[in-house]
Amino acid sequence: NIIFVTGNFFEPPPVEITIKGREAIINYFKALEGEEKPLNEVKVLLVGDGGAGKTSLVKRIFGEKVDGNESQTQGINIRKWVVGNGESEIKANFWDFGGQEIMHATHQFFLSKRSLYILVLDGRKDEKPEYWLKLIENFGGDSPVLVVINKIDENPAFELNRKFLREKYPSVRGFYRLSCKSGEGAKEFSNILVKELKAVKHLEIKWPKSWFNVKSKLEIMCPNYTSDFGVEGECEHCSFIQYNKYKMMCDEEGISSASEQNTLVDFLHDLGVILHFRDIPLLNTHVLEPEWVTNAVYKLVNSKEIAESRGVLKLDMFAEILKQRTERDFYYPPDQYGFFISLMKKFELSYELDGNTVLLPGLL
Ligand code: GDP
Ligand code: MG
Repeated sequence: NIIFVTGNFFEPPPVEITIKGREAIINYFKALEGEEKPLNEVKVLLVGDGGAGKTSLVKRIFGEKVDGNESQTQGINIRKWVVGNGESEIKANFWDFGGQEIMHATHQFFLSKRSLYILVLDGRKDEKPEYWLKLIENFGGDSPVLVVINKIDENPAFELNRKFLREKYPSVRGFYRLSCKSGEGAKEFSNILVKELKAVKHLEIKWPKSWFNVKSKLEIMCPNYTSDFGVEGECEHCSFIQYNKYKMMCDEEGISSASEQNTLVDFLHDLGVILHFRDIPLLNTHVLEPEWVTNAVYKLVNSKEIAESRGVLKLDMFAEILKQRTERDFYYPPDQYGFFISLMKKFELSYELDGNTVLLPGLL
């Protein structure tokens, strides 16, 4: 009662499968194909006010020179870091957000669960760490938070109420005083960071091969994609895909139940592979390129059209505001305008006046 397949033998499938016929048996073996592997990947988010030293800290961690001439980060800069962990490796993707105040609001879209946060504070100023800690608490679930007190070269006396903050925000793992400029404390922090990365809970979760396959297919589709070997994927590049396309990709990999597809979407969102909010049923857009979203919101919020209408945004204004002005501009098809309305409502950047009209209170 053993089935031979190209020289290997397997236990026969359960009866429930065999009675369903040949195709069910093939699917069964397909699902067993390739063992499961731990995910071993984590998204690391650097948050804090513009000028606090986020980009300088990333440079220190990557062993690069911090020359004091860091130019303001534009948009979102994602960098990959690989850390050895016994026999295996951990991939850490650092998300460094640009500094403009206006963009704080759009950073919220990317604050994910199952991630690791580094909050960078400028030790020269009277910082308000609670603004950031609350934000992380709201969006980050129980992700660990490392609080960096930077620029101790200029203000060695600066301190926070650590006991109070630790009790109020239990996700805070520790406080680290350092100077990205002089390098003091930076090596120690990198060592702690590696330790904390290894302790991230979800790294251990076993992923079936089919999940990894969907993940890499999506990654290759993103226009920013460069593989670990610097080779570009040969594939149509797109900034976003519709839910149906995602579903098709899952089906091709034998991930056919809606619940499994949803579980995978949540993981992919937390890893930063896609941006997708399952709690908004209307949103069936899966965003592959973060800047496709931030750029549109930035254009909307800063548009002279909305300033002139005192914050009122109507659906029929989108085409003008989001139109491509240069060849390098992102393209926003009209059927995506609703996505941005829902997104801005979800994050309370705008309020609905009627079906086709929202109000952007920041512009009143
Ligand atoms: P970001 O906006 O949070 O990414 O901050 P940057 O990394 O761009 O740093 C803002 C400015 O602070 C730059 O001019 C840095 O050179 C400077 N800076 C960063 N770290 C330190 C530090 O430890 N000490 C001092 N004195 N300046 C620093
Ligand atoms: Mg920066």
